Amino acid sequence: LRGVIALDGPSGTGKSTVARRLAVSLGAGYLDTGAMYRAVTLAVLRAGVATDDEHEVLTVAEHVDLRVSTDAEHQEILLGGENVGSEIRGQAVTLAVSAVSAVAPVRALLVARQMRIIDEVCEQRGGIVVEGRDIGTVVAPDAGLKVYLTASSDARARRRSLQDSASGREASFDEVKQDVDRRDRLDSGRAASPLQPADDAVWLDTTHLDLQGVLDEITALVDERDLR
Ligand code: C5P
Repeated sequence: LRGVIALDGPSGTGKSTVARRLAVSLGAGYLDTGAMYRAVTLAVLRAGVATDDEHEVLTVAEHVDLRVSTDAEHQEILLGGENVGSEIRGQAVTLAVSAVSAVAPVRALLVARQMRIIDEVCEQRGGIVVEGRDIGTVVAPDAGLKVYLTASSDARARRRSLQDSASGREASFDEVKQDVDRRDRLDSGRAASPLQPADDAVWLDTTHLDLQGVLDEITALVDERDLR
């Protein structure tokens, strides 16, 4: 891959799986920006800071020792050297992450880091697949391909609950659906940086597509634009 593929969209669209598989098949790097917001949120919770205390939240974010791997086949998120990859997917973080990521200076801090990581990886391996909410608009506005993944909210809740039970977390479909809807509302309605798709993003509705179907569509776009 040459350059950046920006993969944006709400949770439960299959974004993470698609992004990782795509990175592997293109021999590219991979960056999960949601994991960075989640890790900062975990640090905030561990510090006992209230998520609406923007000043303290920013202080935690400024001092956090966070390392993320950009290898799609070996995902690791280290907080102070500890691998928190599984804990950041838990309920406590999931409930708090939208509030932390609504703090504008926290976003500025993480966006700057994400831009640096992207530059480094592009230099080393040519290209990177980056997933998040604001990649095509803010983090990598010059990305060679921007895809905005969507799916009906039922389909997204179904996928999320399958994912949760596969990783040993039990929540009813209704609970998961409520959480998915709540996070959509918070993430798209925030004042600091409302998350909207880029004007030049290609919309891909995954409601009736399986993983291979989504990968095929995106790979076709990569080839159409001559990005490898
Ligand atoms: O993608 P994931 O569901 O792990 O993201 C967790 C949360 O992080 C989102 O609900 C959103 O609040 C925040 N996020 C963000 N900008 C990104 C990626 C994630 O605000 N680029």
